[in-house]
Amino acid sequence: MKDVLIIGSGPAGYVAAIRCAQNGLDTAIIESKAEFGGTCLNVGCIPSKALLDSSNKYYQAKEHFSEHGISFTEQSFDLGTMMTRKDDVIKKLTGGISGLLKGNKIETINGTGKIISKHQVEVTQSEDTIILDAKNIILATGSKPIELPFARWSKNIVSSTGALNFIEVPKKLGIIGAGIIGLELGSVWSRLGSEVVILEALDEFLPSADHQIAKEVQKEFTKQGLNINLGCKVQDTIDSKDSVLVKFVRDGEDHELDFDKLIVAVGRTPNSQNIFDSSVEISIDSKGFVDVDQYCRTNIDNIWAIGDLVRGPMLAHKGSEEGVMVADRIIGKKTEMSYEHVPSVIYTHPEVAWVGKNEQEVKTENISYKTGVFPFAASGRALAASDSKGFVKMIANESDDTIIGIHAFGPSAAEIVQQGLIAMEFSSSAEDLALTIFSHPTVSEALHEAALSVNNQAIHIGNKKR
Ligand code: NAD
Repeated sequence: MKDVLIIGSGPAGYVAAIRCAQNGLDTAIIESKAEFGGTCLNVGCIPSKALLDSSNKYYQAKEHFSEHGISFTEQSFDLGTMMTRKDDVIKKLTGGISGLLKGNKIETINGTGKIISKHQVEVTQSEDTIILDAKNIILATGSKPIELPFARWSKNIVSSTGALNFIEVPKKLGIIGAGIIGLELGSVWSRLGSEVVILEALDEFLPSADHQIAKEVQKEFTKQGLNINLGCKVQDTIDSKDSVLVKFVRDGEDHELDFDKLIVAVGRTPNSQNIFDSSVEISIDSKGFVDVDQYCRTNIDNIWAIGDLVRGPMLAHKGSEEGVMVADRIIGKKTEMSYEHVPSVIYTHPEVAWVGKNEQEVKTENISYKTGVFPFAASGRALAASDSKGFVKMIANESDDTIIGIHAFGPSAAEIVQQGLIAMEFSSSAEDLALTIFSHPTVSEALHEAALSVNNQAIHIGNKKR
């Protein structure tokens, strides 16, 4: 009998496996796909970042290198080479996971796992079915893109996975959903020459971001060529050989648009089907998420579930940390997750990132607060790089100065917010960060200045009137 059996090798499952092994537990991991790494490494975070980086390099060369006095007689790109580079990056990383599992003496099993009793998992392999026994089972089966009943997957109607593998740049690209996937993939293909139209059902752009940031982001992305249409409820599609007609309602009126390709990016749904035998009474909510407590334990005490399969944001880093927590809890440690400090990032250019509470949330929760804002237009490093759009915004508690939210749109926003998040984990006040030395010149100084600005002490911009 294994100490731990893990089903699924994405960032939640493989990290849980490694920590279980480090904790001295006899561990095995079951994966149905040929490669380890799940959505993130194979068809999500990593390939999308590879294409975001390639397309941004091309876009910068085409649109902005001349500002630096660099010119080319001709700019072009080869999509095949871009895709091969992306696939090489994936191969390197999935191979790396395989090496890490081996190095930690974790048994790897190829097949589809299903819990058939409290301590047993049935694994269906191409030729065989085997049954494995385990003291603990960790479910980490992830999620899949939501398919709309009126826009079935096809050659022209694709999920994020299909949109990472177009063999030519679509002339007219429609995207349903202005969420993270819609904005990231919209940016990739728009930079490479597609005419991108995004149709978003909500009337508000990026409602989970700070409103001040969202407003700025929408303005900038529109300038970059993303045609973002809010309040557009897509209701039907007609998929023909070479195009897709999309029918939607806006302000009560019917509209339609024709595209070469359509990306449906309306969220993801947990992979909770067919992972339990009907005799296993695991509690699952109405949206398909496996019910767990704050420590990711299901209603069956030796069965745990982590990552996209359970409540909370569908983010790789959230799943990985849950994996660590569960592996530690299995050996009796009291590790906890800091769910209020899960950062969000949109890897566009500039990046959008945030952690903690935004201004509309602190208002709704009646928290008395103060804010500090610093624009990259006043950052020497950002100006030197001609990358000075956006700003950093910090929100601190009025009473004790504790930082409760950091929001950024601009160069290296993800790394800047990460620095602030480390401070938040140590219950930093805005003054603590303000008294920290930041290297000059760095774009991170915008975080320093935002912290100073919270208490009206910014050096490189004016402060609010006291
Ligand atoms: P999302 O939930 O972020 O956005 C989907 C959007 O589609 C919503 O704004 C919704 O209002 C809209 N929508 C739904 N039905 C619609 C309809 N019929 N017509 C028009 N609009 C409609 O989902 P996503 O962008 O698909 O991303 C899925 C998950 O993957 C998210 O949880 C996201 O956090 C995660 N993800 C994260 C990253 C990252 O961390 N950088 C990158 C990619 C994906």
